[in-house]
Amino acid sequence: MSFDYDLFVIGGGSGGVRAARIAAGYGARVGLAEESRMGGTCVIRGCVPKKLMIFASSAPEAAAEARGYGWPDAQTGAFSWDAFKAKLDAELDRLEAAYTRGFESAGGTIHHQRARVTGPHEVTLADGTLLSAKHILVAVGGRPQRPGIPGEELGMISDDLFMMEKLPGRVLVIGGGFIACEFATILNGLGVDTVLAYRGDKVLRGFDGDARQLVTDQLQQIGVEVRLGLSPARLARDGDAVIAHFDDGSSDRYDAVMFATGRRPNTAGLGLEEVGVTLGPGGAVMVDDWSQSNIPSIYAVGDVTDRVNLTPVAIREGHSFADTLFGNHPRHMDHSLVASAVYTRPHELGSIGMTEDEAISRGGVEVYDTRFRPMRSMFAGSDARVMMKLIVDDQTRQVLGCQIFGPEAGELIQLAAIPIIMGATKEDFDRTVAVHPTMAEELVTMRQPTRHHARAAADSGAADAAERAAQA
Ligand code: NDP
Repeated sequence: MSFDYDLFVIGGGSGGVRAARIAAGYGARVGLAEESRMGGTCVIRGCVPKKLMIFASSAPEAAAEARGYGWPDAQTGAFSWDAFKAKLDAELDRLEAAYTRGFESAGGTIHHQRARVTGPHEVTLADGTLLSAKHILVAVGGRPQRPGIPGEELGMISDDLFMMEKLPGRVLVIGGGFIACEFATILNGLGVDTVLAYRGDKVLRGFDGDARQLVTDQLQQIGVEVRLGLSPARLARDGDAVIAHFDDGSSDRYDAVMFATGRRPNTAGLGLEEVGVTLGPGGAVMVDDWSQSNIPSIYAVGDVTDRVNLTPVAIREGHSFADTLFGNHPRHMDHSLVASAVYTRPHELGSIGMTEDEAISRGGVEVYDTRFRPMRSMFAGSDARVMMKLIVDDQTRQVLGCQIFGPEAGELIQLAAIPIIMGATKEDFDRTVAVHPTMAEELVTMRQPTRHHARAAADSGAADAAERAAQA
C-alpha cells in the first residue's frame, strides 16, 4: 500500500519538530500539521519567553547589587512593558521562522491547520483534506487547566500572560508548582503587586522538602504575598477588577487572576479514542518505552504522554523515535534521572535524582548539606543563603541525588547531572579539586555527612536480596 507520507506528525512543538526533522533527514517523506505557531509551548508561550521575562525582572536586583558594590546612583527606573514586549515579539518571530526553516529545509511539508486522526494510517485536516501515512506521531503537548470553579473564565492562564497589553497593578497567582513560582517571581520583579495563593503548606510539592521551604521563604522575602493553605472558591467581576472568593470565606480584589493549576494532555477532539488508541488519566496517550501506542502505527512523544513533562525530554523522545524508525538506530529515552530547574529569583532551584524525603523513606543514605551566604551577594549586603545537598548511598557511595538552591542553579545542576548520571561516587566528587573562589566548589568540599538515614532493619534484608537478584 502506498501512503502520502512515511510519517505524519501532529504538533509543531519541540518534540514533534525534532522527530520530523530527523526523520526527513533520513530520507522519510514527512508531513506535519500545526494549528498555531511553529515552536509550540516552549518556544512561543513557555520556557523561552518566560526565561526572557526572568532576565527582565532581575534588573532591580542587579541595580541593588551595583549599589552594594560602590555605585550609589545605580537605579533601574520604570519598566516599560511596551519596549520589552516589542523585543519579545520579534524574538519569538525569529525563533518560529527558524523552526519552520529547519524542518522545511530538511524536506518536510507543513500544513498550517488542525489535524485529527481518523484511522490508524489516516489524518484529516481542518479543510477536509484526507492524508495517509505509514506512521503517525502525536506530539500535541498539553494545555493549562483551570481548577473547575465558578467564574474561572475570568482568570488568565500562563499563555495569556505573554500577550498582555499592559501589566496589571495587582495580581493573584493560584497554584504552587513550577509556573506559579516562576510567574509570581517575574511579576513581582516587574513591579506588580503579587499575591500567590497555594493550597499546600509550602510550594513545589514533590521537590526536596528543604528546597521547598527555601523557595517559599524566598518568594516572601522578595515581596510576594504568599498565602498558604488557601484555594479560590469562585471568581466574580466587579468593573475592571476580579474578586476572588477563597475557601476560608475571605475575598480580595485584583486587577488580574492567573491560574497555574497544572496542565493536561491536549488530546480532546483529536480522534484518538475513536481509532482505538488507549488514553490514560487526564487523556494522556499511553505508550511503551519506544513511544508506541497500542495501535502499532501511532506513536506519541512529549507532554501528551504525561511522562516527564519537560522540553528536553520531548526532544529526546522525538529524536529517539526518529532514529529507531527511520535511522536504523534503535534507542529509547531513559526517564529515570532527569535534571530540572525552577527559575525563581534571585536563587533558582536545580534538582536531579533523589530528594531527601525520598532518601528518608528508602534509608541507607548519607546527606551532605551545606548552607552559606555566597561571596558575591553577601558583599553587596544580601542575606540570601545558598543550599547544596548531595544524597549518597551509604554502601555503594554512589551519589543518588543533588539539590541546589542558589544563583544560576539551573546552570550548576546541568553540570552536576553528568557525573551523577555516570554513577559517580561521593569519593569521585571529593577527589575533584575545587575551583576557587566559586559557589560550586562546595559540591566537592563537603567532608562530613550532615545526616544519616539508616536503612530500616526489616527493609535492609529485602533490599539486599533485591540487590543480589539484580546482580545475578
Ligand atoms: P504543576 O503540576 O507543577 O503545579 C500545579 C499546581 O497547581 C500545584 O501546586 C497544585 O497543587 C495546584 N493545583 C492543581 N489543581 C488545583 C486546584 N484545583 N486548586 C488549587 N490548586 C491546584 O503545574 P504547572 O502548571 O506549574 O506546570 C505544568 C508543567 O509545566 C510542569 O509539570 C512542568 O513539567 C512544566 N514546566 C516546567 C518548567 C521548568 O522546567 N522550569 C517551568 C514551567 C512549567 P498540589 O501541589 O497541591 O497538587
